Amino acid sequence: ATPTSIMVGTGKAAELGILFRRGEALQQLRNATVVAVDKTGTLTRGKPELTDIEALPGFAADDLLPLVAAVESRSEHPVAAAIVAEARRRGFAIPETAGFAAEPGYGVSAQVAGRTVQVGADRYMRKLGLDPAPLADAAARLGRDGKTPLYAAVDGRLAAILAVSDPIKPTTPAALDALRALGLRIVMITGDNRATADAIARRLGIDEVVAEVLPTDKAAVVARLQNDGAAKVAFIGDGVNDAPALAQADVGVAIGAGADIAIESADVVLMSGNLAGAANAIALSRATIRNIR
Ligand code: ADP
Ligand code: MG
Repeated sequence: ATPTSIMVGTGKAAELGILFRRGEALQQLRNATVVAVDKTGTLTRGKPELTDIEALPGFAADDLLPLVAAVESRSEHPVAAAIVAEARRRGFAIPETAGFAAEPGYGVSAQVAGRTVQVGADRYMRKLGLDPAPLADAAARLGRDGKTPLYAAVDGRLAAILAVSDPIKPTTPAALDALRALGLRIVMITGDNRATADAIARRLGIDEVVAEVLPTDKAAVVARLQNDGAAKVAFIGDGVNDAPALAQADVGVAIGAGADIAIESADVVLMSGNLAGAANAIALSRATIRNIR
């Protein structure tokens, strides 16, 4: 591509709210055959709400919510914000915590009012030596609804299941249709559990899902897609978690409203704050290269 055609291409892109942070990305995007997409914050709003809390016998939801919210008040995870907001909305005071610890991709723990409170995914409970089986039916039901189940333990006993729901962005279905119309293979990558990920994917007509991916493993999943048939992979994401995958991809595309580190790791930024610009960027890349031949 000539420097002039690239300037014209990047100029048109800017009008469409697509920022090319690296000039080469405009040329590389046309070769993409696979689009790997993060779920939370990219396909969904990324601002979940707490919808359910169900306590096991011997525990009460109203006693547990302030304890769980106290631990989560120390976490930066979107799930944490949902739980704290709902506890406040219900008028609970949030107690002090001590000894807070976060395990990325698993969950969080702290001492609250003299008790040890642990909150996280089913794999976190297993890691702690707790069997989440008594809540498996509830988890399956919540997962089918596209909600993310979270488990709470108090003093080493499984106590409750909570669920958060993160709605699909209204712009997502059309954006995916536009990517499919360009002949791209779409793969969803998420840290969320299998049942929830599948429920969201089914609603969006996505049939390739890699779920329960630890934050440290997202880049490896992108590498695997690249090695599979020497594919060129564009990865689209928004989170702190997504930075390594954005760097690993042939073209990293960040959502403009995303985390600073995601934007810094990306080649292309979608200023619209949603996926809609992705198909435009790829179409523009193809058109720009065609024009200069
Ligand atoms: P994602 O943001 O794609 O869901 P993460 O790797 O950040 O992926 O988290 C994976 C899972 O770990 C979450 O779905 C949740 O079940 C659990 N988790 C992570 N952080 C927390 C937290 N602060 N509180 C409760 N659960 C958490
Ligand atoms: Mg995300």
